[in-house]
Amino acid sequence: MRPEEVIERFVAAGALLEGHFALTSGLHSTKYLQCALVLQNPVQAEEFGRALAARFIDARISLVAAPAIGGIIIGHEVARALGARFLWTERESGVMTLRRGFSVAPGERTLVVEDVVTTGGSTRETIDTLRAAGADVVGAASIIDRSSGTADVGVPRVALAELQVPAVDPAVCEACRRGEVAVKPGSRKRAP
Ligand SMILES: [Zn+2]
Repeated sequence: MRPEEVIERFVAAGALLEGHFALTSGLHSTKYLQCALVLQNPVQAEEFGRALAARFIDARISLVAAPAIGGIIIGHEVARALGARFLWTERESGVMTLRRGFSVAPGERTLVVEDVVTTGGSTRETIDTLRAAGADVVGAASIIDRSSGTADVGVPRVALAELQVPAVDPAVCEACRRGEVAVKPGSRKRAP
């Protein structure tokens, strides 16, 4: 799947939003990526999953793991395509954790999957959690890379497409200067 085709699918699903957004980082952006809107179509999720799995077809992956919530759907589809099992990590008191009785076999060859990599932080945390549980994490993957390829997660990492989403401090935001109100993505509420 070519990167242009991946982005086209996001646009077609209304998952690449244009407007004036207040991000959780506190920065403002004119674009916002809402992966859930493209992944709500199971056929689409399956095709992204197969495309990512193809990059690891010879890596003898037996476990795919993803950080909740964003990584769960795509991780599950990658696991299906690889014939691997799937589990997710989640935060407990801010710390990425394996819960729900999930466990890892010693040395189990593991791929960590996310929907979007921005800084790579949650992928790194997930890798750390799995290694602590005994896994051999051999790679990482995401549908979208927002880091321009710079996010270093300590293992080989692939993405189906790169996407730049420039974000600026509200003090220098053009839309704010025009008096436009910033919206928090994922809600219909206005940002404070
Ligand atoms: Zn603004």
